[in-house]
Amino acid sequence: MFRLDGKRAVVTGGSRGIGREICRSLSAAGADVAFLYAGNEAAAVETLEIINGAGVRGFSYRCDVSDAECVRATFKELLGELGGVDILVNNAGITRDGLSMMMKDEDFDRVVAVNLAGAFYCSRAVIPAMMRARSGKIINMTSVSGIIGNAGQANYSASKAGLIGLTKSLARELAPRKITCNAVAPGFVETDMTASFRENAELEKSIPLGRFAKAEEVAEVVRFLASPAADYITGEVVRVDGGLAI
Ligand code: NAP
Repeated sequence: MFRLDGKRAVVTGGSRGIGREICRSLSAAGADVAFLYAGNEAAAVETLEIINGAGVRGFSYRCDVSDAECVRATFKELLGELGGVDILVNNAGITRDGLSMMMKDEDFDRVVAVNLAGAFYCSRAVIPAMMRARSGKIINMTSVSGIIGNAGQANYSASKAGLIGLTKSLARELAPRKITCNAVAPGFVETDMTASFRENAELEKSIPLGRFAKAEEVAEVVRFLASPAADYITGEVVRVDGGLAI
C-alpha cells in the first residue's frame, strides 16, 4: 500500500527514533532516501543499512539543520546525488524542558532554532526543485504540545505551534504548483526523547488509547501523506496521539 517507487525523499533527523522509522518506511515503499543527522555516527550508519537493505539508494549527511549555511551546502550536494526531490520530511527536533521563569535564553533560542528555523531552511532549500517539477510533498513533524501546549515546554510548544503556522503558509504559497505541505502531530512516542518518563503509569492513563505510540505508527502516517493517495490534502495537521488532544 502507498508505494513510492522512483520517488526521492529527504528526511531530517533520520538517524534515530521516528526519523529512522520514516526512513525505513519510505525506503520499503521504494523511495530513495537521503537523511540528515546531528552527530550520532553509529546510529546514522544503522539507518543507512536499513535503507540500503530495502534495495534503494541511501545517503546520509551530518548537518545541523539550524545552521542555514550548512543546510544550503548539504542540500546542494544531496539534490545532486538524488537527482531531484519529491518528498521532504522535516523531522529533526530537540527538547530543552524547564519552567518558563527559569528557562535560559539559550534553551529557548536553541529549541526554536532547530525545530522551527531548521524546518524553514530545509523547506526553502527544496522549494525551487519542487516548483520546477510542479509537484512535491513537504511534511513537518510537529507535536500535540504545539496544539494544546504543555507546562514545562514553552520553548518546545512555541516551536511546534510555529511549525503549524509554517505548514499552513507553505501549503497556501505552494498549492498553485501542486506542492502540498502537511504536519503530523504525535503525542507520546517510544523514542530516546521520551525515555526518561516512559514508565510513568499516570501519563499512560491520560492517553485515551492507554499507551505510547510506536515510532512506526507515526512513520506510516508520513508515508501516506507522502504518497499520491494524499494528493488532495494540504495544510492539514494529523494527530497521531492515541486521543491525547481530543
Ligand atoms: P530523537 O529520538 O531524539 O531523535 C532526534 C533526531 O533528530 C536524531 O536523528 C538527531 O540526530 C536529529 N537531530 C537533533 N538535532 C538536530 C539538528 N540540529 N540537526 C539535524 N538533526 C538533528 O527524537 P524523536 O522522538 O524521534 O522525535 C522526532 C521528531 O518528532 C521531533 O521533531 C520531535 O519533536 C517530534 N515528536 C516526538 C515525540 C515523542 O514522543 N518522541 C512526540 C511529538 C513529536 P542524532 O542522532 O545525530 O542526534
